[in-house]
Amino acid sequence: MMPHPLGLYLHIPFCRQRCDFCSFYLEIHREGRAEAFVRSLVHEIGLSAQQHGAANRPIQSVYLGGGTPTVLASTQLIAILSEIRTHFTLASDCEITVEAHPSINSEQDLVQLCQAGVTRMSFGAESMEDGDLTRIGRSGAVSETITAVTQARAAGFANINLDLMYGLPGQNLESWQRTLTHCLALAPTHLSAYALTVEQDTKLASNIQRQRSPAPDEGLQIEMDEAAQRMLGDAGYERYEVSNYAQPGYACRHNLLYWTNGEYLGLGPSAQSYLGGTRFGNVADLTDYNTSLAASRLPIEDRTRLTEIEQLRDAVIFGLRLIQGIPTRHLHQHAENYGHATVTAQLLAQQLIEVDGERSRLSSRGRLQADTIAGQLY
Ligand code: SF4
Repeated sequence: MMPHPLGLYLHIPFCRQRCDFCSFYLEIHREGRAEAFVRSLVHEIGLSAQQHGAANRPIQSVYLGGGTPTVLASTQLIAILSEIRTHFTLASDCEITVEAHPSINSEQDLVQLCQAGVTRMSFGAESMEDGDLTRIGRSGAVSETITAVTQARAAGFANINLDLMYGLPGQNLESWQRTLTHCLALAPTHLSAYALTVEQDTKLASNIQRQRSPAPDEGLQIEMDEAAQRMLGDAGYERYEVSNYAQPGYACRHNLLYWTNGEYLGLGPSAQSYLGGTRFGNVADLTDYNTSLAASRLPIEDRTRLTEIEQLRDAVIFGLRLIQGIPTRHLHQHAENYGHATVTAQLLAQQLIEVDGERSRLSSRGRLQADTIAGQLY
């Protein structure tokens, strides 16, 4: 029997500066720390291929996220990719994504990444209005996003994603629609549109608490979400997941793995994995991560073995977010397992979940309340 495909996620824990809303595990980039991290990561790649018995499993996607992977030199990124090819078996059509800040890379860097086999660039545009970027403490300018997309295309990338956020301080429906229009003019193959959420212990949370910044307006965010669905749908993008839109054939294979309860290995500090029914995570501290790998120990901090009932719960909650949905019998089985029959019946009666024969999914109204519904079904 063919082994199941696997995805690899690599967390690069550095950025040039921290955006006001960001709660990801990262440090401000420093050359020496980055060099030590790359040495550890290279070691972790070999150790995990061996210890997880993953060396011969086809890798269908590799995703370098963070943080900002492209704060590393292209030579460092290429060395990481080369180490992956040494220890894992990449499928011939493996999707390899690198997340990038639009202001960081030169065209030469992009050419080198393309030649090294990266198939997909994902730029964190966030907004196409400079004022929005300033208000969320995001470095860079809109003109740099335009340049980055143009240069990536010239370097040979056909598959380009732009990440956007809506509900930003000072943003209104009209400015969000302008952002969408400007993004569409760049014709990316994929667009992610995330509602701004306020995470604890971020500068944004503190600004809101001190009334220096307005809290996101949920009603406005729903209007913005509806506008995105309408404008991107009219432009030929399919909304294939709550926050993700793609031109036909360009859905992100790596992210689909998460939502279809597929298996993935996460490498780098704080990265999460799901393998053989067990979720486990790496230590979220770069010094501890380096120490562990210097002793040739995988830096895994916690493990949770999921029962079959919990695995079905996760498959239902993630899978409902997808347009392809889940088998309807799984929805009812999960409702029975967790005593959610009444809640499920209400969600169906309110047409927040729609049943189309043997498949069930969130309706377009349901997608606007995806997190609340997930909480009800958990
Ligand atoms: S660039 Fe991305 S990862 Fe880095 S601080 Fe900003 S949001 Fe967080």
